[in-house]
Amino acid sequence: QDSVKYTGMVEDCCCDYETVDSVNGEVLHPLLQQLVTTPFFRYFKAKLWCDCPFWPDDGMCRLRDCSVCECPENEFPEPFKKPFHIVPSDDLMCQEGKPEATVDRTLDKRAFRGWIETDNPWTNDDETDNGEMTYVNLLLNPERYTGYTGPSARRIWDAVYTENCPKYSSGEICQEKKVLYKLISGLHSSISIHIAADYLLDESTNLWGKNPELMYDRVLRYQDRVRNLYFTFLFVLRAVTKATDYLEQAEYDTGNHEDDLKTVSLMKQLLYNPKLQAACPLPFDEAKLWQGQSGPELKQQIQEQFRNISALMDCVGCEKCRLWGKLQVLGLGTALKILFSVEGQNHAAQSLQLQRNEVIALVNLLNRLSESVKIVHEMGPSIEKIMEKK
Ligand code: FAD
Repeated sequence: QDSVKYTGMVEDCCCDYETVDSVNGEVLHPLLQQLVTTPFFRYFKAKLWCDCPFWPDDGMCRLRDCSVCECPENEFPEPFKKPFHIVPSDDLMCQEGKPEATVDRTLDKRAFRGWIETDNPWTNDDETDNGEMTYVNLLLNPERYTGYTGPSARRIWDAVYTENCPKYSSGEICQEKKVLYKLISGLHSSISIHIAADYLLDESTNLWGKNPELMYDRVLRYQDRVRNLYFTFLFVLRAVTKATDYLEQAEYDTGNHEDDLKTVSLMKQLLYNPKLQAACPLPFDEAKLWQGQSGPELKQQIQEQFRNISALMDCVGCEKCRLWGKLQVLGLGTALKILFSVEGQNHAAQSLQLQRNEVIALVNLLNRLSESVKIVHEMGPSIEKIMEKK
């Protein structure tokens, strides 16, 4: 019974579940896992200090202190080492007080060289380099359980869904609105899967491991959440393949010749993968969207909604979650930009321009989604069987 759950075409996409699982398992996942460890892809810059535009009065900015007070000495940002720094009192609710929520900023500065600075119409962040940007090594900050739950986390997801991409009814025919909802839901599934796949099982012994019950409760028991994960994966994969010309010629220089050659080689293996091209040449067909009379208006409306979602990431009250939230929303915004902001060959003037950070976000997002798809494929059926018996 499990195997019939996810058969046939992934909804609104051009590949079936079995093909996605086999191409992902055999080629995409191994390649992406290597790519994200290269110096080019492992450093990401983000503005992590909070300036939530939606809820200014709830003490969010205390969180900056919270994260610092829990860090080991060598991670203290310089300004906080000054003697007049006020240590927050114990009675403040410190959302990100847990060490696993804080960001390790250890970084090889040589690895980061500037690319162009260009605005992404789908996201809220101003990507211009400035003193507020933090550069982080993603490998030292895996996306996993951080202890961030409760009303703060709930409020973000509620705002994302109710105000910016409401769940469509079964009669909804507007394809574009469905796409936005499914992208966010698919990303949410992926975040939940990573939380459950790397969970703090026992705080006293610092034992980390899989939490199958959580994975079932949050994702596996809802077929639409799993389906939306596959959809989001194919959508982002299509964006990467559509940007092949750009990504092939991009500058992956980080100052380490050997590592950089490896990055270029892995990128080519991803972009010109014969197995992927044979099995799933067009993971998603973006040409079908924005065709109706109200296309341009609709695009503007959905772009505005996505920018709001991007702005909401500044309100995420746990630094590591904010880091991954920002990265993945920028990755989705980059996919949307590639698929919908550039019209293709007949509009040569509007050629694709991506920032370095956008490319890093896009590939890291694809890797996160690829991991989630693999976890669901490999562990899903056995977890479901156990949970359904309970
Ligand atoms: P939530 O995951 O908070 O879900 C809230 C509600 O949304 C659910 O009750 C359900 O109605 C709906 N929903 C849930 N999943 C889906 C879906 N796939 N599609 C559609 N609707 C859905 N916590 C960590 O430990 N580590 C992290 O790295 C992390 N990153 C985060 C990043 C962001 C941007 C945000 C907003 C939160 C993050 N969190 C993280 C918190 C985490 O996502 C949960 O909010 C938290 O664990 C509480 O979970 P919950 O069971 O209340 O449900």
